[in-house]
Amino acid sequence: MPVAAARARFARPDLTTFCRLDELDLVVTGQRLEPDRAVLACRVLTPDEWCRRCGAEGAARDTVIRRLAHEPLGWRPTVLEVAVRRYRCTGCGHVWRQDTTRAAEPRSKLSRRGLRWALEALVVQHLTVTRIAEGLDVAWDTANDAVLAEGRRVLIDDPARFDGVRVIGVDEHVVRHEALLFRMEVRDLHRLAVAAAG
Ligand SMILES: [Zn+2]
Repeated sequence: MPVAAARARFARPDLTTFCRLDELDLVVTGQRLEPDRAVLACRVLTPDEWCRRCGAEGAARDTVIRRLAHEPLGWRPTVLEVAVRRYRCTGCGHVWRQDTTRAAEPRSKLSRRGLRWALEALVVQHLTVTRIAEGLDVAWDTANDAVLAEGRRVLIDDPARFDGVRVIGVDEHVVRHEALLFRMEVRDLHRLAVAAAG
């Protein structure tokens, strides 16, 4: 029956995969919908119970919450509250937190998807930093710093950043506004990144 065949292609609704949190090694454990934002409670999927110092097994002590701005879904900011386990080594007493580097850069306030959204919003959609900060529900400085750091990381740390760039134009009117110059450079990078993916 055609309807049954079509239905068979659907998987069970799943916030974790819908919000692409599986890519970040996170699992959604709860949701809280507030008037102007959605908050998703998450936990880190991969255990991290082996001591980095002596290799003995750690015992879970407690959890700490790490808040991350994720990409906005449904035109509403999406905030992650990630429960991160803390372990104490049963051998040497060393204490550590569960590894969250797949979810976000160390000390970052944005998830990797949130950061990606911010960069694409600036480069592809030409959104202002003010608008990006609103979309992420973070302070202007937080959005600005994150985008600049990520742009710097992919531009300056990539030795092939000028590959395929035939003309580098410097406009004296642009040079006076560093944000515009930065935007021009990232756009070039984006073009290269897309070419590489194709
Ligand atoms: Zn240890």
